[in-house]
Amino acid sequence: MKEEKYYHDYCAGCGLCCEVAEGASMKMEEDGFYYPDKFSKDVLEVCRRVCPVNGRELEDMSRSEIWGGYKGKYLGWSTDKDIRYMASSGGVLTALCKYILEKKLADGIIQFAQSRENVTLGKVYCTTDVQELIDRCGSRYCSSMPFSGLKRFLEDDKHYVFVGKPCDIRILHNYIEDHKELKDKFVYTLSFFCAGAPSEKANLSLLKKLNCPDKSQCTKLQYRGNGWPGYATAWSEQGETGRIDYRSCWRDTLGRDIRRMCRFCVDGVGELADVSCGDAWYLLPDGEPDCSEHEGRNFIFSRSDKGDSLVKEAFKAGYIFIDDNASLEKLRQAQKYQFMRKAAMKHRLRGLKAAFRKAPAYPSNFFDEYDRMIDNNKKLHIFYGTWKRVMQGKI
Ligand SMILES: Cc1cc2nc3c(=O)[nH]c(=O)nc-3n(C[C@H](O)[C@H](O)[C@H](O)COP(=O)(O)OP(=O)(O)OC[C@H]3O[C@@H](n4cnc5c(N)ncnc54)[C@H](O)[C@@H]3O)c2cc1C
Ligand code: SF4
Ligand code: SF4
Repeated sequence: MKEEKYYHDYCAGCGLCCEVAEGASMKMEEDGFYYPDKFSKDVLEVCRRVCPVNGRELEDMSRSEIWGGYKGKYLGWSTDKDIRYMASSGGVLTALCKYILEKKLADGIIQFAQSRENVTLGKVYCTTDVQELIDRCGSRYCSSMPFSGLKRFLEDDKHYVFVGKPCDIRILHNYIEDHKELKDKFVYTLSFFCAGAPSEKANLSLLKKLNCPDKSQCTKLQYRGNGWPGYATAWSEQGETGRIDYRSCWRDTLGRDIRRMCRFCVDGVGELADVSCGDAWYLLPDGEPDCSEHEGRNFIFSRSDKGDSLVKEAFKAGYIFIDDNASLEKLRQAQKYQFMRKAAMKHRLRGLKAAFRKAPAYPSNFFDEYDRMIDNNKKLHIFYGTWKRVMQGKI
């Protein structure tokens, strides 16, 4: 496989290579995902250092903790009722950002949120105002390109918080490894559990299900929130056009069309962020996650000393509630997909190789401990399923 094709096929769509190398830009391709429009010598040089497909950052990640290394694990939520209601889960990420802004611990929050001009794509903002921060909470299930436009922040003398998907945090980590002068640029990095970035095509299918098939008529698209998990809802000038529940939105629509790289992602739980949060679903009597409406709750991992201090200080100052009695066994049941992704990765990679497809260059023994966590039937199933999907041209 040519190097260009390797980086193209396993691109996570972050936009960093095009931001820091001259003469390339991100372009949406027919499949509804963004990729660099050319892999020039300069672009490739950046890719080799930062792209998550090379797994350079795995050196700094745990080989035995399926949920990633952590300093603290908590259940919690924002104590601000509006944030807790509007946010994706319990609003902890937004509450932490509010604490940081109000205590003046950073000059701004670099985050990705809805764009009024293009409801299925969103935009990167540097938020300094608390009301704007609250308006920008919630999950955006679309292409995000968080590093497009980052240069202006890298070149000023301010300090920021960066909120991004786990792969964004890993890419930033790799970039900072090569640019030590940026070590203190981001006072905190915050992340969330992520099962994949859906395509523009999947977003257009969602708009159809929400009775707003003409995107130009859609004035607002909310994927979840306003409740937990809340409803995917679209609006036009005339008002709400439709709403569907969380499972119909994610499982039946968006989650079916995610980037190829997401299927081979080693970290959907934000291991390299200072703090990362996921849905702390309640469990039904049969052990399945209960996705019916409740007051929002986060599972919170503090991953560094400063991340843990941030969580504890925000708790002491009354911004969040935390309970440190969080159970990893319940998390495993509530987040089966995230558990299986890492436990079965070795066999997904084997499936690729058996189908003569170049696999991500992760260190071969990285998954040995995780591999012991699943039975042989599951391994075979994952191996065969991956092989078959490659042979059918679906991956
Ligand atoms: C693509 C995607 C996949 C997800 N998959 C899972 C999953 O598998 N399991 C799970 O538990 N939860 C998943 N979530 C939801 C999210 O991890 C949880 O809701 C988490 O608990 C954060 O909740 P919160 O209420 O603290 O967030 P909020 O307080 O609502 O804050 C969310 C923050 O994330 C930022 N943000 C939103 N969308 C994006 C984006 N696309 N790219 C970068 N930044 C963004 C916002 O700017 C905001 O700062 C996913 C979210 C996204 C966007
Ligand atoms: S993952 Fe980011 S750095 Fe790598 S090719 Fe894609 S856009 Fe470029
Ligand atoms: S699944 Fe992994 S690669 Fe895909 S968007 Fe989420 S963190 Fe990035």
